[in-house]
Amino acid sequence: MQKLTDTFGRSFPYIRLSITDVCNFKCGYCLPNGYQKDNSDNRKFLDVNEIKRLAKGLSELGVCKIRLTGGEPTVRSDFFDIVKILKNETGIKKVVITTNGYRLNKISNQISNSGLDGINISIDSLNRETFKVITGHDRLPEIIEGIRNLQNLNFQNIKINAVLLKGINDSEKNFDEWSKFIKINKIDFRYIELMQTGDGLDYFKKYHIPAKIFKNYLNKKNWIHQTLGRDAGPSLNYIHPEYKGKFGIIAPYSKDFCKSCNRLRITSRGDLRLCLFGTTGISVRHLIQRDDQLEELKDLILKQLNFKKESHYLELGKTGLTNNLSTTGG
Ligand code: SAM
Ligand code: SF4
Repeated sequence: MQKLTDTFGRSFPYIRLSITDVCNFKCGYCLPNGYQKDNSDNRKFLDVNEIKRLAKGLSELGVCKIRLTGGEPTVRSDFFDIVKILKNETGIKKVVITTNGYRLNKISNQISNSGLDGINISIDSLNRETFKVITGHDRLPEIIEGIRNLQNLNFQNIKINAVLLKGINDSEKNFDEWSKFIKINKIDFRYIELMQTGDGLDYFKKYHIPAKIFKNYLNKKNWIHQTLGRDAGPSLNYIHPEYKGKFGIIAPYSKDFCKSCNRLRITSRGDLRLCLFGTTGISVRHLIQRDDQLEELKDLILKQLNFKKESHYLELGKTGLTNNLSTTGG
């Protein structure tokens, strides 16, 4: 089997697939004015059959894990059909999602029965008011209730992500709150350093703070850095014998971040993105219209990988095609 590798020796067993740009939240760093339809692009989001063919091709190129993201992936009425097909008809071994969890309390049973292998929930603060200010929605209690439901259903692999924001959720008190939470919950919590996007320069200037501040906290509290295998991805993980959950840091501005890149992205309209901040976005959609196009699809994706760059060059202020992360799924 020909596998996805690039000219820098990295391999790509992992795809982040956005299935919609639509989102009901208004996170300040992503869609501060809410989702606005892009009138310059009238292409529909990929349908279930297109997603199935795409996943089959990717699976034959060695991809074993797909993360469904968005926008908010669970706003799609056929969300669970997509999960089912990916799990049962494509050869993809692991299907996971990233969600804002806005109706997690209502769909926890369905999630648990869907065959999903994991869920990442974005919660920027455990303080209800702060959560509301960041996302524009007072949904924290429902999200926490949803997490409790999943735990009661014995759903494994629950993670929480928060974007680290200067003056909002970066105090030792905030870190202590999450510490308390993961001490008794088998949930991994990760801070993501705020990334500059095309639309978010002012927000970035105001709220960006290097993830080092959280790293220092973890060192001070005797968390142990866990070294993982080559394909583990760019997150730094920390364990502590007295805690059920783990801490993690995603620091895209750190030196060597891109060395462990193991993922490619596909947008909701079928553009392959080699990097979250790349400047090219070739469409593969014309090759997922019929089952007999599989070989052509694989060829195109393999050829594209030769163009993957060594780094995202974010530190130079380059944000590529990414106006906000709702089109590429973060
Ligand atoms: N709506 C879902 C959610 O919020 O989990 C999935 C899509 S969202 C774009 C995926 C992830 O990207 C979220 O964890 C979000 O916090 C993160 N994100 C969005 N914009 C970001 C930015 N400018 N910098 C860092 N992370 C960002
Ligand atoms: Fe929506 Fe997720 Fe963007 Fe927040 S980060 S606006 S929940 S897509």
